[in-house]
Amino acid sequence: MIMKHELIALPYSLDALEPVMSKETLEYHYGKHHQTYVNKLNELIVGTEFEDMPLEDIIKKSSGWIFNNAAQIWNHNLFWESFNPQSSPLDKTNSKLAIMIDQSFWSFEDFQVKFKAGALSRFGSGWTWLVQKWETLEIYSSPNAENPLTLWWEALLWLDVWEHSYYIDYRNDRGTFVDNFWKIVDWTKVEAKLK
Ligand code: MN
Repeated sequence: MIMKHELIALPYSLDALEPVMSKETLEYHYGKHHQTYVNKLNELIVGTEFEDMPLEDIIKKSSGWIFNNAAQIWNHNLFWESFNPQSSPLDKTNSKLAIMIDQSFWSFEDFQVKFKAGALSRFGSGWTWLVQKWETLEIYSSPNAENPLTLWWEALLWLDVWEHSYYIDYRNDRGTFVDNFWKIVDWTKVEAKLK
């Protein structure tokens, strides 16, 4: 049986993340880039051991083009699902996540500084992640399509720093893109991913 992978439906409209991410950015980033990873994976797995495998298993077992497209589908699924146009702030005094952020990074502001530094120091294409390793949180930076799933760490929050993620709205200014990204993070969903 061939498992056909599909582009996830967005939980909001294409213009819902404006002005942080414009409708045009979502038309390209979601409608073209993300869609292309889905189409490409469906082509590549035909006749291989991966054709009836769930997405996460493909990511853990494949390499090369199949890995790149499968991982990018997963990365983008998580990326879109972590936003909320109404914004859902972190309860900085009572939540378990806020306590872990303070323990791991000293303060929420220090965490944001380190996350931004991770995003800015990624040369070329890649992702910046907040990951959970048992009782500690860390910033992890990965090139291209690589993600913490292959390392068995829990991914809590992630930012796509490929140029296609911000070039329409911010041109070369990745730093402002990172600063604005915080305005649409759905912290309820981030906290729900804690193990
Ligand atoms: Mn992307």
